[in-house]
Amino acid sequence: MSFDLDTVGLMDYDQAIETFDPVMGLEVHVELGTATKMFCACPTDFGGEPNTHVCPVCLALPGAMPAVNRLAVEYAIKIGLALNCEIAEWCRFARKNYFYPDMPKNFQTSQYDEPIAFNGYLDVDVDGEIVRIEIERAHMEEDTGKSLHVGGATGRIHGAEYSLLDYNRAGVPLVEIVTKPIIGTKAAAPAVARAYVGALRDLLLSLGVSDVRMDQGSLRCDVNLSLTPAGNPVFGTRTETKNVNSLRSVERAARYEVTRQAAILAAGGTIKQETRHFEEQSGTTRAGRSKETAEDYRYFPEPDLVPIAPAREWVEELRATLPELPWIRRARLQADWGFTDPEMRDLLAAGGIDLVAETVAAGATPAEAKSWWSAYLGQKANAAGQSLTELPITPVQVAEVVALVNSGALNAKLARQVIDGVLAGEGDPAAVVAARGLAVVSDDSALQQAVDDALAAAPDVADRIRSGKVQAVGAVVGAVMKATRGQADAARVRELVFTTLGVDPEA
Ligand code: ADP
Ligand code: MG
Ligand code: ZN
Repeated sequence: MSFDLDTVGLMDYDQAIETFDPVMGLEVHVELGTATKMFCACPTDFGGEPNTHVCPVCLALPGAMPAVNRLAVEYAIKIGLALNCEIAEWCRFARKNYFYPDMPKNFQTSQYDEPIAFNGYLDVDVDGEIVRIEIERAHMEEDTGKSLHVGGATGRIHGAEYSLLDYNRAGVPLVEIVTKPIIGTKAAAPAVARAYVGALRDLLLSLGVSDVRMDQGSLRCDVNLSLTPAGNPVFGTRTETKNVNSLRSVERAARYEVTRQAAILAAGGTIKQETRHFEEQSGTTRAGRSKETAEDYRYFPEPDLVPIAPAREWVEELRATLPELPWIRRARLQADWGFTDPEMRDLLAAGGIDLVAETVAAGATPAEAKSWWSAYLGQKANAAGQSLTELPITPVQVAEVVALVNSGALNAKLARQVIDGVLAGEGDPAAVVAARGLAVVSDDSALQQAVDDALAAAPDVADRIRSGKVQAVGAVVGAVMKATRGQADAARVRELVFTTLGVDPEA
């Protein structure tokens, strides 16, 4: 018997985990950042007028012949290597047959029993503990087009008046990365799922194979989850929550499925093997189609494409290009920079790690670099609704401003104005300083006049300083800074005030 959610509700999460062990499987689809599609020369750019990035091959017009994108294969191999996989000596594409209007061929060109990469793992940091996630395979395939259902309240096909199809995305290269069943994570299962997808995203970004924008669908995750009575080694029936498109949603979807399935199982019901959809608003999942099995797809080897047999030398060449793993690099940078864990975490969240690294490479100290990127530039980015990397300023330019401050040519306030000028497109820091006339004034003749004026305007303050209240000098320095619009060298002004008044501040 199967029970309705309405009749059994949800089980409290902690209670569910006491009663059942979750088993998860994560399927991540990543759109590769190649310029052209998997089997034709159409561009892969996101957006664009509907049906403008199409040709006979990706529209599957009769007689059109596909050809494999070599760079996509290279990216797939790199992904496989970074995930510690074996790389197939020989593999083929297969046709996965089904009808859906967004897929004009009526089959998806994918890989089935001969994936390009298999048997790997990824070590993931879950709140300070390393969890090894085993990878079953990473295979190449192509994306589908997009349907837009118009006229209904929900944007779903039900209730829609008509549907529009955009084939721009049809044929964009994808790699699908599938884990082996993830067991033994118990209460941490949702956090493990999130950490894995996050680590995979970082890894793919560092490989330069995708822009990994979850919000644009460049990285999508299907969360498979089943429950089995605690301690029972036999897996239960899984559901597959499709296309979860943020890290937070991955965690919420897994958590929700634990509480939903536990309630049904505890009430004596059974779980239906089905796809489900995650609802961002409510944080719940709802049933999709009942799950087809591999036999339903009538897979067979693709007759229009030659097999892929990557030469071992090529594979080794690609292995040699793999970058340091992002979390290992971060640990190394943190030790070099002497940042605390929270400092590093904030910087990571703001997307500032590379920016700081490049600013340091351009000559700033880590503290100076971090201070600019996480404070002033962080505010600017927030105000503009941009990420740090989108700000129109380079790490080299930030390092130049730092150098100008250290040489005494700029004070903190002027430095911020220089940064503003760079952000406004006025050129490099030196050009902004020249054009805006922002350099610190330390020329005594110019400053002496301002000091004399300030003392004349505040004779009482001058008297207090003369009588030994040296801290009153601050008021005069402040007045001079104001009169020079912040451009005076404050330390020099202070000295001039004392010499003008004939006071020795050390006495
Ligand atoms: P499908 O084509 O149905 O999506 P895949 O093999 O591509 O199947 O992916 C299934 C995913 O679910 C894999 O990550 C696999 O490890 C995982 N999985 C398999 N059986 C179970 C189960 N009983 N409970 C949870 N996850 C499972
Ligand atoms: Mg799948
Ligand atoms: Zn095309």
